Amino acid sequence: MEILAVDGLAVNFGNVQALKGISFKVPKGKIVSLIGANGAGKTTTLKAISGNVKSIGAVVFNGHPISNRESYQLVGDGLIHCPEGRGVFPNLTVMENLQLGIVGRHHAKVNFDKNLEMGFHYFPRLKERINQVAGTLSGGEQQMLAIARALIGEPDLLLLDEPSLGLAPQVVKLIFDIIVKINKDNQTTVLLVEQNAKQALKISDYAYVLETGKILLEGSGSNLLDNEDVKKIYLGEH
Ligand code: ATP
Repeated sequence: MEILAVDGLAVNFGNVQALKGISFKVPKGKIVSLIGANGAGKTTTLKAISGNVKSIGAVVFNGHPISNRESYQLVGDGLIHCPEGRGVFPNLTVMENLQLGIVGRHHAKVNFDKNLEMGFHYFPRLKERINQVAGTLSGGEQQMLAIARALIGEPDLLLLDEPSLGLAPQVVKLIFDIIVKINKDNQTTVLLVEQNAKQALKISDYAYVLETGKILLEGSGSNLLDNEDVKKIYLGEH
């Protein structure tokens, strides 16, 4: 059963056609990635799903059409977007940022203490820095905070945009390992957008390759890792 079905999703910015009518599915409990070069339309896809840009086409989440729902309503439905650039509030502390994770998510309010502990279990470093303002955290720590804040809202579907952006290789590895753990431990479905195609494909059950607003290729993570075109163009291998 799929948790998300996207059919003919298109987005225009003025006369730029950022998405030209893409269709894909995300099965419940899986990790699905969208990979592709800069400007391929990956971020726009996530924003269109979470109601942050205007789109046409059909998006069905948990069996319900959501094209007319606002982003704050979607959070309440369990569709939570962890945006590119992390979106942490630099002048708020780690704890205050985490508390924002339950805004609009009534169910998660009841479980806040438990979910906070879960966030600290995955990212112990955040517990050590609980009273530090987020703007003074390292890039990796800010990414951890953004993911933990999303988790506190108990997502059924987590949209995760470029979690590896600008991070050192060891931190990237840690973040990807935790994404796998979150998926396995809680059956959280993950739709991941990444320019780091190799790492993304390694952890993905299924993936789609986007190019200039269209889906060029799709397949299991391991099939795409072995695909000659993917190797040449996206993995820098010859
Ligand atoms: P990146 O990894 O660099 O974010 P991406 O694959 O996520 O790349 P998008 O950010 O979705 O790509 O951008 C797709 C296209 O839409 C690009 O040509 C981009 O310039 C354009 N675009 C994105 N947002 C806007 C906007 N708000 N106004 C105008 N054009 C935009």
